[in-house]
Amino acid sequence: MSDASLGTGDPFTPTLALPDTIAQDVLARVDAILPQAGGPHPLHAPEIDGNAWDYVKDCLDTGWVSSVGAWVDRFEDMLADITGARHAIATINGTAALHAALLTAGVKSGDEVLVPSFTFVATANAISYCGASPNFVDCEATGLGIDPIALEEYLDRIGEVHGDILINRQTGAVIRAMVPVHCYGHPADMRALCEIADRYHLIIVEDAAESLGSTIGGMHMGRFERIGAFSFNDNKTITTGGGGALITDDDLLARRLRHLTTTARVNDGADLVHDMIGYNYRLPNINAALGCAQLETLDQKLAAKRDLAARYRETFADADGVRYVSSPPWGESNNWLCGILFDKARTRDLALTSLNAAGYQSRPFWAPLHSMKMYADGPRAPLPITDRLSACGLTLPSGAGLKGEIKRQPSIDR
Ligand SMILES: *Cc1c(COP(=O)(O)O)cnc(C)c1O
Repeated sequence: MSDASLGTGDPFTPTLALPDTIAQDVLARVDAILPQAGGPHPLHAPEIDGNAWDYVKDCLDTGWVSSVGAWVDRFEDMLADITGARHAIATINGTAALHAALLTAGVKSGDEVLVPSFTFVATANAISYCGASPNFVDCEATGLGIDPIALEEYLDRIGEVHGDILINRQTGAVIRAMVPVHCYGHPADMRALCEIADRYHLIIVEDAAESLGSTIGGMHMGRFERIGAFSFNDNKTITTGGGGALITDDDLLARRLRHLTTTARVNDGADLVHDMIGYNYRLPNINAALGCAQLETLDQKLAAKRDLAARYRETFADADGVRYVSSPPWGESNNWLCGILFDKARTRDLALTSLNAAGYQSRPFWAPLHSMKMYADGPRAPLPITDRLSACGLTLPSGAGLKGEIKRQPSIDR
């Protein structure tokens, strides 16, 4: 992938405007589409709405606040329904969901797991919790997911298939699995990635943490291979306060995931009997109650986000030196975080400063994980696009509440 793919329009026309002119232009364009009186605009505030107060009150009134209860069952049923998966298993957070998924999928101590360097740190940490090492691979600049072409080149060069396992000939380790991430809600190119995984005998666990509501050809993210993991942290598309979930169509995997995340308890009776070292990873009822109310209004949230994304896309369509990161052509994004990508890092830095100073909370794109000290020495492919994305991208205020009516400030005496 050439540098030109990161720029706007015709790659042979250099950007003529000065970096600070471009940064001011970006601010003016954001200013024109977000509600003026509503600021400061957070990056992604939780939208607590609908039946949230009633459902949480029910937990308080009945005393069912902990890790079993009717709201957990209901939340799981709703999630299975929305994603189309046979089973959903609610967890304490998205990181725990990924950890349980990787263990259940068969990732072992000493293994390597292919993962983008361009993601939230939890994706790699969950791999490390298994005693395995992340092996960082590059992204493509359209959907921000793992680049299938670069991945294949890398595996051709370093991989050796023995029977049905893939060995990294540079480190001698088994490359057991791949964790595609749907960055900022944009679907990774799962058709191409699943095909590569098939050929190289790789297990896929989807980090769908950011992609509730995203699809490819009508299929919900998290369902392309056997296990998908979600997060419902406070800044995700819906929130349970903290929380996560696993989805699978496989009955046996569902049983195993439920068992492992429920301290591997083997009975429902009074005796506390456990048959392996499990984890206390189940979602409390009180969080699930909030989650049910949030899922009831998911469609409205997705519509508001789609509308905001369309406004950003339109306003940046003719901008100089910057482009809006749209839903990729192969899928439909939930538009979790709206991002723009500059031709130059210096322009990004200037725009970041002026947007934040004007009350539009913006963040640089993910810092690459291979640049963090705990992952600095690990195995990796060449990561040129990751480095450019991290240096040249920023995320803009993206909450579902930014549409239309201006929200009142949160108050403590609600
Ligand atoms: C949020 C997130 C997670 C982790 O979820 P938590 O619920 O915060 O533990 C994992 N991966 C990605 C890509 C995320 O954005």
